[in-house]
Amino acid sequence: MIKTSISSMETELLETIDLIQTIESNIDEYKEKLLQTKDNNGKQLAILQEKIDTIGDKVSEKNGERENVTTEISRQIFSVYDRVRKGKGGSAVVPVKSRACGACFKALTPKKVQEIRKAVKILTCDNCGRLLYWDADISA
Ligand SMILES: [Zn+2]
Repeated sequence: MIKTSISSMETELLETIDLIQTIESNIDEYKEKLLQTKDNNGKQLAILQEKIDTIGDKVSEKNGERENVTTEISRQIFSVYDRVRKGKGGSAVVPVKSRACGACFKALTPKKVQEIRKAVKILTCDNCGRLLYWDADISA
């Protein structure tokens, strides 16, 4: 009776040792997988960071270009342009259409139409403030 019991306990002990060994080998496998995942994630993160940096560079490059262009255009014209762009959205510069502003359709005086046509100076719409220009295909 005792012998049988001991034998059964021995069997159980062996099984338990077996199980522990399996778990230990699994742990090693998981450790390796974890390291691989960390490594892969690290590489992907590095690639993403590089892309983000590149985009950041392009944005600041474009901002620089925009500033350069801005200083080339006279301050007065740009302030009109910037105000309209921020305030109205969409195009700040619109062509004359049927002797009216191409955006808000406010009629223009014949004198103003002539001035815009001859491109004597930069003119703005009295109503919406957009910059107006003459486009032979649209305005005529
Ligand atoms: Zn207008």
